[in-house]
Amino acid sequence: MADVGARDRLVMAGLVVLGLLTVVAGVLSGRSTINYVLARDAREGALSWAAEIDKRLGEQDSPPPRLLDKDLQVLDAAKLRADGVSGAAASLPASPTFNTKGFSLIEGLDWLTMGWALSHIYRNHNEFVSKLDGFAVLSPDGTTLAVAGDLSPTSLRDLLGQSEGGAALAQAVSEDTVETVAIPGDAHNRLAFVPVTDGGKIARIYAFAVDQTAAAALTNVALTVVTLTTSLLIVMGFSVPAAIASRRIRERWLAEDQIRYLAMHDSLTGLPNRLQLHHHLDRAVARGKRHGHLMAVFCLDLDRFKDVNDTLGHATGDALLAEVAARLKESTRDVDLVGRLGGDEFAIVAENLDAPENAMRLARRVCASLAEAYHVNGHEVTISASIGIAIGPLDREPPDTLLKHADLALYRAKDDGRNTFRFFEPAMDAALQKRRRLENDLRNALRKNQLYLDYQPQFDLESGRLTGYEALVRWWHPVEGEIPPSTFLPIAEETGLIVPLGEWIMKTACAYATTWPLDTTLAVNLSPAQFKTQDVLGLVRRTLNETGLEAHRLELEITESILLQNTESVMDTLTRLDQLGVSIAMDDFGTGYSSLSYLTRFPVKKIKIDRSFIDTLGTSPQTSAIVSSIVGLGQSLKVTITAEGVETEGQAAMLKKWGCDQVQGFYYGKPEADVPESDKAPVKRPLVA
Ligand code: C2E
Ligand code: MG
Ligand code: MG
Repeated sequence: MADVGARDRLVMAGLVVLGLLTVVAGVLSGRSTINYVLARDAREGALSWAAEIDKRLGEQDSPPPRLLDKDLQVLDAAKLRADGVSGAAASLPASPTFNTKGFSLIEGLDWLTMGWALSHIYRNHNEFVSKLDGFAVLSPDGTTLAVAGDLSPTSLRDLLGQSEGGAALAQAVSEDTVETVAIPGDAHNRLAFVPVTDGGKIARIYAFAVDQTAAAALTNVALTVVTLTTSLLIVMGFSVPAAIASRRIRERWLAEDQIRYLAMHDSLTGLPNRLQLHHHLDRAVARGKRHGHLMAVFCLDLDRFKDVNDTLGHATGDALLAEVAARLKESTRDVDLVGRLGGDEFAIVAENLDAPENAMRLARRVCASLAEAYHVNGHEVTISASIGIAIGPLDREPPDTLLKHADLALYRAKDDGRNTFRFFEPAMDAALQKRRRLENDLRNALRKNQLYLDYQPQFDLESGRLTGYEALVRWWHPVEGEIPPSTFLPIAEETGLIVPLGEWIMKTACAYATTWPLDTTLAVNLSPAQFKTQDVLGLVRRTLNETGLEAHRLELEITESILLQNTESVMDTLTRLDQLGVSIAMDDFGTGYSSLSYLTRFPVKKIKIDRSFIDTLGTSPQTSAIVSSIVGLGQSLKVTITAEGVETEGQAAMLKKWGCDQVQGFYYGKPEADVPESDKAPVKRPLVA
């Protein structure tokens, strides 16, 4: 924005210079105009006076001599000499009479814009026109033949120069011109010479002394007014439109600056946005290559920021992001660029590093700074960050590759437990490529019938009776072979494919379960993403209606992380499902937050102890204690307890001793595409809805 101020000042300075130039030009042209007007005035006066003199001389003689210029009579030199010039001159009227001869300086000014007003005011004031002070009649060689008024032979000689005949006269007079010369040292007086020819030769010259003091004053005033007015008009003519234009331009510049700023910055934090970051990265990589300096690109993501948004609201989330931005700026040098890539993702470009260790130190500093408690909107919030770091510049790769590498390293940092940083390694790139391929293939997997369901039996531990099956989704990839759900389900969740996939699983499993004995239940897993993006209640209702499976035979397995989402709506959905007759099982119990309060708040009918606990039963006294207390908890809450992943007889015996209700695991039965023939009609893989 500072640019606009500078540009404004430039425009104003331009206008001032233009105004000054106009005034200077006006003054200069005014001066030459004054000179021209005064010279012309004296010249016309001289002609008129010469005519008057000739006329008066002519009245004494006939025919009257004519002046060459203006068609006047030529004086007879012999007669003039005989009559005595001084006598003739003496008979001339005094100069004031000539003054009234009707030529007016002011008339000459009429054409000037403002001159007319003055000309009308002063038209009749003779003192404002050129005045005849005196005159002389000279022979062509400069000899004074006669003088009248204030012009004495001595003063005339002085004025014309010391030499007889005067250089000025020789210079000023040619055969057929009327010349005026300014009297040296006297700004407002001049001499006017009117040559009179006889037979093609100059017979004599009239020299007039013209007093132009008043005329010059008037001309000065008039021209000053005219000059100033014209200058003012010109300046106004320029400055008013210029001011309007400048204002418009200023507004446009401001708007453009604003747009440029918005296009390059993130509005919430004021940090450079992704676009600016890319521009900066291009230049930074070029600089690094030119000077042989190391640089680092950081991709930074806040851990579980969504929880802050969900629990404390978006306003607090926004305030937290602004505070994170401020801390990032504080933790970095001024030359480093901190940008926001969007959401809770930030990036840092640090140039001119001595060694990769510098990047590590910076990452530690950033992690420590961000981990300190925040006080936002009356809440105390703690949050950590995961950071991926790529070191550059890279020789052959485009600058963006550094950002991509940092992003891959960030994923690794997240995978490795968050609140940490990881440097990019080439293997990460290969993993990403594979993931991209899987993502693509998964989009087509449903359509190409590559997905199918396995069913794993669950048993009553006491009686050994089969109680039901858990449906487990499988993907048979044409090239990769069997892909475990732990690999493709997260991809499905991130890409939204979990919605059609979840629907297909529900319908396929329910349809298959209708072929089982009526007391055999079906357990279907629901991922947290389904609760976020899918109308689970609607899906279950529709499926039960379409397949005819009785609601009490369906069990939905959810994980504890579902309860961290919008509790109100999750609670509502679970309650309605419960009212429908569908039961809810808490899967993987013990691996999540294990807050016992939800066991009473939500309609949970079954707890499935995670297989990681069962795995160490008998080898770890702690897990034995945990599992036995979960079994005890289930008994007191009247919730069915199922142990997952039972693989050995010993594990089964311990569970039986503690009174665990149900078991599921390889010891009892592996997940199979078909339920055994004895349990109902087999279905060929892959299963299609
Ligand atoms: P889960 O719901 O806890 O499923 C039980 C997992 O333990 C299954 O792995 C099953 O094959 C495995 N398992 C069962 N008994 C044993 C045992 O004795 N030993 C060992 N080592 N493993 C045993 P799977 O099929 O790989 O499924 C992994 C997870 O993927 C499931 O955990 C579930 O969270 C998810 N999942 C599977 N199918 C679906 C599905 O259809 N929908 C959704 N949303 N998630 C599913
Ligand atoms: Mg399960
Ligand atoms: Mg489980």
